[in-house]
Amino acid sequence: MHPNADSETHPETADSSAPQRVHEAELEFAVKRTAPKTDGPIDMDTRLATDERTRVMLSVRRTSRGVDNRWEVDPDTQDQILAEHAWLNDDSASHSRRDQLTGGWTIYAPKRDERPNEFASLRSMQATPFRQGEAQVGCPFCAGSEGQTPEALWTGRLGDLTAFHTDQGSDRFARPAISICYGEQPDWDVRVVPNKFPAVTSIDGASQNRTEPTTDVLFPSAPVVGGHEVIIESSGHAENMASFDPALVYLTLVAYRERIRHWASVDGIRYISVFKNCGPEAGASLHHSHSQLIATSLLPQAARVTMARCESHRARVGSSLGCDLLRAECSQRSRVIAKTDSFVAYCPFASRFAGMIRLTSMSHQPRFESFDDGTLDRLASMLTRVIYWVNQAFPGKAYNYLLHTCPPSSAQPEAFQWWLDIFPRLNKAAGFEWSSDCMINSMLPEVAAANYRRIARRDDPRRVLAFG
Ligand SMILES: [Zn+2]
Ligand SMILES: [Zn+2]
Repeated sequence: MHPNADSETHPETADSSAPQRVHEAELEFAVKRTAPKTDGPIDMDTRLATDERTRVMLSVRRTSRGVDNRWEVDPDTQDQILAEHAWLNDDSASHSRRDQLTGGWTIYAPKRDERPNEFASLRSMQATPFRQGEAQVGCPFCAGSEGQTPEALWTGRLGDLTAFHTDQGSDRFARPAISICYGEQPDWDVRVVPNKFPAVTSIDGASQNRTEPTTDVLFPSAPVVGGHEVIIESSGHAENMASFDPALVYLTLVAYRERIRHWASVDGIRYISVFKNCGPEAGASLHHSHSQLIATSLLPQAARVTMARCESHRARVGSSLGCDLLRAECSQRSRVIAKTDSFVAYCPFASRFAGMIRLTSMSHQPRFESFDDGTLDRLASMLTRVIYWVNQAFPGKAYNYLLHTCPPSSAQPEAFQWWLDIFPRLNKAAGFEWSSDCMINSMLPEVAAANYRRIARRDDPRRVLAFG
């Protein structure tokens, strides 16, 4: 336990149900920033840079005129966007950006891409149609094929949707009624089953004498136990969540919450990952829309590093790194796509992948599984729209999303902020990426965000961050 762990100075609690509005958050951040600064060197490892240092650090050049009106143009191509926003990167030289959460650097090479217009070439590409509809012969995830999977751990069923306002693209007025069951139930809409081919040994089946790591210094090894589950997101054959009613997305999020809560309570589980692979290029082996949960006794290196960085930041600054990054993104605005009272979607400053969108809460929330039904319902509306934007911008492209919630093994959950990253699979990792563990991204997040804003404005102009 860090000595500063209890010296929380701002009103953030893990189970805070009252959302902390953004203006309060920004006010708090402003107060923090105007506080006298020590003259000592800033630890660039975790500490957020000041405005002045940010200007030096970034090749993003904010003019005194501000960015506001420039986004009003409706550019059709990446080249045009780059030309309109030459201040983003005033020469063709590559630059790198660091993700303060992971500490990892990404190389930005906007001019490197052989294709002069990535968006246009993608648009003209033959899109792989996602299929939707009745049960597909041979699909083990369709209703009627329950016998082809292990018995359900959890099922959820939607109530009568016609009784509710279901205006896609906006917060619904009332969330749908659902009935959930820790086992099979007829007429299910979302069904969670154990993975037939699990990545980890079942924690129940693990024998006692296999739970100790080896003591070999040069060849360390340890057993990995846990659980691997599949969340089937529709009873009918549907291949892309982008076409779902938000009510179904809501039920899927409820399934995530329930299963994360279950695994977080299991002794020995140190990390829980929830993710979706949609399309073969994203790693999906079955077409039917589904996501997966893997709970492990192993805390992966990346999660360990992020937790340590968040804890170090909180010990020094007093707030969570994730929230501070969000406040800084909201104040810079050029990468923000849309926000509601509860959630914000943006393309992070140091996105590792082209076109990546990050979705998180406006208020501090370490754990996704802490959300109540109403919050999950609003999140479902937002997530539905985010997936829609990705599919509009990159039609037919496979995509992944990754849900990051504070690992159950965290000693300081307050240092953590939950988030969800979604990104289309545009380019494959190649030699440099594999050899260096450093991604090369040819699309600036500012460019991606401008494109998404254009799509989002068409979709629902009320939610798009208003400039000027
Ligand atoms: Zn199916
Ligand atoms: Zn915070």
